[in-house]
Amino acid sequence: MALIVQKYGGTSVGSPERIQNVAWRVKRCRDEGNRVIVVVSAMSGETDRLLGLASAVASNAVPREVDVLLSTGEQVTIALLAMALNDIDCPAVSYTGSQVHIRTDSAHNKARIQEIDGDRVLGDLEEGRVVVVAGFQGVDEFGNITTLGRGGSDTTAVALAAALKGDECQIYTDVDGVYTTDPRVEPKARRLDRITFEEMLEMASLGSKVLQIRSVEFAGKFNVPLRVLSSFEDGPGTLITYEDAQMEQALISGIAFNRNEAKLTVTGVPDQPGVAARILTAISDANIEVDMIVQNVAQDATTDFTFTVNRGDFKKALAILESTASALGARQVKGDDKIVKVSLVGVGMRSHAGIASDMFSALAAENINIQMIGTSEIKISVVVDEKYLELAVRTLHSKFGLADEVNAE
Ligand code: ASP
Ligand code: MG
Repeated sequence: MALIVQKYGGTSVGSPERIQNVAWRVKRCRDEGNRVIVVVSAMSGETDRLLGLASAVASNAVPREVDVLLSTGEQVTIALLAMALNDIDCPAVSYTGSQVHIRTDSAHNKARIQEIDGDRVLGDLEEGRVVVVAGFQGVDEFGNITTLGRGGSDTTAVALAAALKGDECQIYTDVDGVYTTDPRVEPKARRLDRITFEEMLEMASLGSKVLQIRSVEFAGKFNVPLRVLSSFEDGPGTLITYEDAQMEQALISGIAFNRNEAKLTVTGVPDQPGVAARILTAISDANIEVDMIVQNVAQDATTDFTFTVNRGDFKKALAILESTASALGARQVKGDDKIVKVSLVGVGMRSHAGIASDMFSALAAENINIQMIGTSEIKISVVVDEKYLELAVRTLHSKFGLADEVNAE
C-alpha cells in the first residue's frame, strides 16, 4: 500500500466549500488503496490577519508568542478538514505539530525541523484512518510551539514524507504545475512534466514562488519525489525528482526572473587585497544580502566593483557604499534600482557548449543591453533594464523552444 503525503495550501482550503472539495480528493486517494497523510496550511489570508493582530497589540511582538498565535491558523484547518472527511465516511483524525512530535530547534518564526516521531501517525494509518497534520509548526525540546517561516507547510509535508518513507509528496496549490516561465509574462509558457530538484531550486530561488525553497532542498536531500498539482482540476502536475538517465533532458527547463533587484557600482577602487572584503563586509554587517558580484580587471591600479541587492535594501546599501568608498578613496558610487535579473535554467547546460552565446545573441537581436552576467553549472543570469523584462523573457522562451512539445520530455 503506497504512502502518500498530500499538502493543501491556503487557497485550496480558503472556504468551507473548498475544504469539502479537498476532503473528496483525499477520500478518493484513500479509496484507491493508499495510506494518506494530509498537511494543510491556514485558510488563505489567515496568517496575515493574525500577524496584523499581533502588530495591533505590540510594536515588537515577542517571537515566541507570535508562534503561539500563528499556529492557531493551521489548527483551525486541520479540525475542519477532519470533520469534513468524517462527514463523508472517510475516518480521519487531526493533529497539531506538537502532537505528532515535529521536533524543531528553538529559532522562533524560522525554526528548522530536527526529527519527527511518526509512531502515532503510523498507528492511525494502520487502522485505516487518514491523518491530518497542521503544517508550518512544530515544538522545541522545551515544549514551546515554533513555526517554520512563511510557506513552511510545504516543508512539513516533505519532512513527514521523508521521515515515514512516503512514496510521493503531493503539493496541491492553485496552479497545475511548474511552468517553463511565468504565464503572466509569456502566455506560451508550458507546464513541465518533470524537473530536477536542482533546477527547481534554481527556479525557486530565482523568483518562481511555487514552493518554499527549503522544502525543495529537503526533498532533494532525502530523495522524496515531489509533485506539484492543482487542487481545482485533475491533471498530472509536475514531478520534481532526481536526474535519471532515462529522462531525456531538455537543454533548458525554464526561465526565471526577479524584479526585486538593484545594482550598485563603485569605480576607481584601489586594486589591493582586502578591498572587496571591506566593501561587502560593511554591506553584510547591515544584514543586507548580496546576490551577484562582478569585479573588473584592474587598470591603472584601480578597478570597478558592482553587486546587486534586493530592491528594498537599495537606499541603505547605497549610503553604506558611499561611506566605504570615501574611506577607500574610490572615484565614484553609482546605483540603479530599475534593473531585473533574467535567468536560463537547465541541467542540460552541463553537457552543451554555446548556450551562453545563443542567449546573448538572442538578446542582442532585440537590442537588449546586458549589464551584468553571472553563471553557475546549470544557470546563466543576466541583469537588464527593467523595461526589457517581458521582451527578454519572451525572446529567450522562443529562442530555446520552450513552448514546443518537442522540447518536452
Ligand atoms: N500559513 C503559513 C503561511 O501563510 C504557512 C503556509 O501556508 O505554508 O505562510
Ligand atoms: Mg504556500
